[in-house]
Amino acid sequence: MVKPFVPQLVYIEPRALEYPLGVKLRDKFKDMGVEIRETTSHNQVRNLPGDNDFQKYRTAKSTLVVGVRKTLKFDTSKPSAEYAIPFATGCMGHCHYCYLQTTMGSKPYIRTYVNTEEIFDAAEQYMKERAPEETRFEASCTSDIVGIDHLTHTLKHAIEYFGRSEHGQLRFVTKFAHVDHLLDADHKGRTRFRFSINDDYVIKYFEPGTSRLKDRIEAAVKVAEAGYPLGFIVAPIYLHEGWQQGYPEMLEHLEAALPAHAKKNLTFELIQHRFTKPAKRVIQKNYPMSKLELDENKRKYKWGRYGIGKYVYQNEEQEEIKDVIGSTIYKMFPQSRIEYFT
Ligand code: SF4
Repeated sequence: MVKPFVPQLVYIEPRALEYPLGVKLRDKFKDMGVEIRETTSHNQVRNLPGDNDFQKYRTAKSTLVVGVRKTLKFDTSKPSAEYAIPFATGCMGHCHYCYLQTTMGSKPYIRTYVNTEEIFDAAEQYMKERAPEETRFEASCTSDIVGIDHLTHTLKHAIEYFGRSEHGQLRFVTKFAHVDHLLDADHKGRTRFRFSINDDYVIKYFEPGTSRLKDRIEAAVKVAEAGYPLGFIVAPIYLHEGWQQGYPEMLEHLEAALPAHAKKNLTFELIQHRFTKPAKRVIQKNYPMSKLELDENKRKYKWGRYGIGKYVYQNEEQEEIKDVIGSTIYKMFPQSRIEYFT
């Protein structure tokens, strides 16, 4: 079982110490014996230990920066929510295909923001604008927030904050099984707790540093028993030899483990594997031994934002994915809802 994340190195921005959570985290890491360095801004996190980019990248992935979120304008987050709520960025996982490799560029370390009250206030404004419509906030657009939350409990506070709200809903997704501290949060059914799942082949070869399927399913059962609305994101759906068996098998494990009440209000989101040309270059640099197939010639080109197109599966392959995975879901979980396939 993958152990809960402990950073090797912590940077604390001085302004973070103006907030109670900043002080709490500094004391916590001190007690844990983690090396702490001060920095005036996260952009100054330079000279990470390591002889070359490859090693520095790995050090960064186990470095935590405790900072203050300056931009309180939220990005939109289609199709799963109206807004992305920024509590953290970066991730300690090493999924070869992860889009954070390109979006975080040369700063792949993890950041957690301690000005949570200001972030909640901003969320409040967004909710007011849309009321009485519900507003959904996605907390895992730029990180796997559950993976660090046993240290910060920011997500736990957010769950309770949205539990008290009139028109807000929270959602996030994780590949980590360290959920115990979230089980007694007073969520009032306003948080959808999702797990990202994949078949054994994909987890084994492309998702090092994350919890295994069995552990994610065990965690999902606990979450269901704690009364949270539950969901699964099957992503990235990756066509490898034997995928037509691998994905139904994954769903069988899920079906056997979940309590009956959880199957009534279950959502699935299906996302096929895709890559861009810049992402391919970064993946090949960070994970040179990866067997992830990134051959443009085998894919269909789809125009994207900012002129950066992505390579997705061919139309017939997409139809087959919907057929194999979609029909298994409907067969095994007839009361569930597939929210989208993209
Ligand atoms: Fe990226 Fe999620 Fe893997 Fe973390 S767990 S490396 S965010 S894909």
